[in-house]
Amino acid sequence: METRGPGINSKIDPWGSTEIENYDGLFQEFGIRSIDDVLARLPKPSKYMRRRIVFGHTDLEKVLDAVEQDKPYAVMSGIKPSGPFHVGSKMIAEEIIYFQQLSPKALASYCVADYEAYADNRQSFEESWKTAISNVADVLALGLDPKHAYIYRQSKQVNVIEKAFVYSRDVTYNMMEAIYGDRSFGLYLSALIQVADILLPETSDFGGPQPVIVPIGAEQAPHIRLTRDIARRHEEEHFILPSATYHRLIRSLTGNSKMSKREPMGLISLTDDPDFARRKILLAYTGGRESTKLQKELGGEPGKCVVYEFLMFHFIENDEQLEEVYNGCITGARLCGPCKAMAAEIVAEYLREHQHKREKTLPLAEEILKTQPLPEIPPR
Ligand code: SF4
Repeated sequence: METRGPGINSKIDPWGSTEIENYDGLFQEFGIRSIDDVLARLPKPSKYMRRRIVFGHTDLEKVLDAVEQDKPYAVMSGIKPSGPFHVGSKMIAEEIIYFQQLSPKALASYCVADYEAYADNRQSFEESWKTAISNVADVLALGLDPKHAYIYRQSKQVNVIEKAFVYSRDVTYNMMEAIYGDRSFGLYLSALIQVADILLPETSDFGGPQPVIVPIGAEQAPHIRLTRDIARRHEEEHFILPSATYHRLIRSLTGNSKMSKREPMGLISLTDDPDFARRKILLAYTGGRESTKLQKELGGEPGKCVVYEFLMFHFIENDEQLEEVYNGCITGARLCGPCKAMAAEIVAEYLREHQHKREKTLPLAEEILKTQPLPEIPPR
């Protein structure tokens, strides 16, 4: 799909390549508000929030009200199990964990979108099953608390399929075509299943309507619009319209506008061999000048540098340390060779530690996906 509003320079496609040259345009196009409006209310904002990688939100206040008033709420997101967990999936998982940890009354709902993998990637459910175990092991290793989470596969969650059918009654081909472009009915259907996934924490199984926050990449904004539209039409269910936070898209290590699972050299997966990941960083596109002499004179251009972007998005937690890299770069005190070597070592070390943890979470991931245990639901 291509969505273009008047004067808006964006191309939004949840299932293809998305380029966003003008994030401000999205505010107008999807009614998104700046994260700055609510930043002061966010307890210990994550690095993604502090650095405006989370650039906007819809109705985040509803969730913040619930946190402040000690009321239940849910955080919901998921993954299409079409490949290893990469740093973009890590970012969304860490945001889920952030919202899960804000309150003991928070529920995390994590969906493995195997229907979407079937519709979009023609991937068999058997293949999705194997990848799902690996993906869920990554989320658990990142810190998701399974006792306060519901983790499920779409293909085993009968009520989301039933609800997708119910919601389909209010949806016409023209409506879907206007939102997603001319796509297969499989993709339209998987979009409706996603609507049901987002609304699942508001069903009676989870205690009825409650605020739900959905952290998503900017390219997923059409799904939130569709979900809110359908929730509005189903007054009888008394849904609280779901909230969302929107994340900037990271570029590929090769300098392409969006990192994609379809370009393995351009992304870092959490299952990458640490030495292979190190090589990818050493080959990455930078904002360095043509010669050492020019770099020392003019400084580098971190705004163009993918290595800097990877450190800022994913691998340097401490703001002062990141500022040091930035200042060293723009003043010409840092050169790209040693800077990339340092970044490569940080990434390799991160992967070694993470992979050690995920070895231990793999059996639990398989058990959870087999049994899909319901978490304890906090009283209302
Ligand atoms: Fe990027 Fe580092 Fe080179 Fe600056 S010095 S352009 S941050 S690799």
